[in-house]
Amino acid sequence: MNKLEKVYCRTYQTIFKLALPFLPYRTPEVVGSVKKLPLLMAVPTTAGTGSETTLAAVITDAQTRHKYAINDFPLIPRYAVLDPKVTLSLPPFVTATTGMDALTHAVEAYIGNSSTRGTRKNAEMAVKLIFENLDTAYTNGSDIDARRNMLHASYYAGCAFTKSYVGYVHAVAHSLGGEYNVPHGLANAVLLPFVLQEYGETIHQKLYKLAVAAGICTKDTPCEQAANAFIDEIRSMKQRFGIGNTIPEIREEDIPKLSHYADKEANPLYPVPVLMDAKELEKFYYMLMEEEKPQASDADA
Ligand SMILES: [Zn+2]
Repeated sequence: MNKLEKVYCRTYQTIFKLALPFLPYRTPEVVGSVKKLPLLMAVPTTAGTGSETTLAAVITDAQTRHKYAINDFPLIPRYAVLDPKVTLSLPPFVTATTGMDALTHAVEAYIGNSSTRGTRKNAEMAVKLIFENLDTAYTNGSDIDARRNMLHASYYAGCAFTKSYVGYVHAVAHSLGGEYNVPHGLANAVLLPFVLQEYGETIHQKLYKLAVAAGICTKDTPCEQAANAFIDEIRSMKQRFGIGNTIPEIREEDIPKLSHYADKEANPLYPVPVLMDAKELEKFYYMLMEEEKPQASDADA
């Protein structure tokens, strides 16, 4: 991304950050020009999206396969009903991928440049609950405490990202969901460690804090070591849950269009720690492409 575009993105994000305390997150009726919606109550049936507390709705244009988010204050539900019994019958893989979606919300909100003390606290609580409960919810779906804790984690992660936004993991994941119907949580889970790795040392200090919150490291662990341990632990979680490192549906000829969509979604809105334009985002699609299998003759050689 060139210098001028970077300045534009950072200025746009700073204005949003300064406006944050004045935005009507809990009193959407003050937005004069918007029609008041009927009473909206949300009952989450997975522990992942956080939609029960966010201003975001995501739709896919059936013609263009463009999947994008609509953000508006009246979309914030008035009440959220977190009933763990509703999630008891979720199959293990859906439990894992939706839980990793919640983890991605917390991490992306936390490492972005527009977090507040409140959203950082929400994100840390979410990360701690996910590291403590997702494995149990995955292996023993009828564990009501693990299910309840995951619902709370997803809610806290939603509280964090509705104000502090997400990042390139979500932007790229949405493009994959729109084009190939890759489930959202799965796309996020596959992508998350790749994108964190790519942000590099810019986010080490923040990942260190999340690693401490998650109980992976102590406060005495060196920053870089803790950050890497956090990313490694996400990789291990994926492995335990049977989540791979590739999205086999990706076709090379689609990549320019997909990265264009991801760029449009994320820039300048998402306060990501390292800015990347469409060309730079292409690398993530290549990372996720399935490696070509060696030809029989090569294998024999
Ligand atoms: Zn998400």
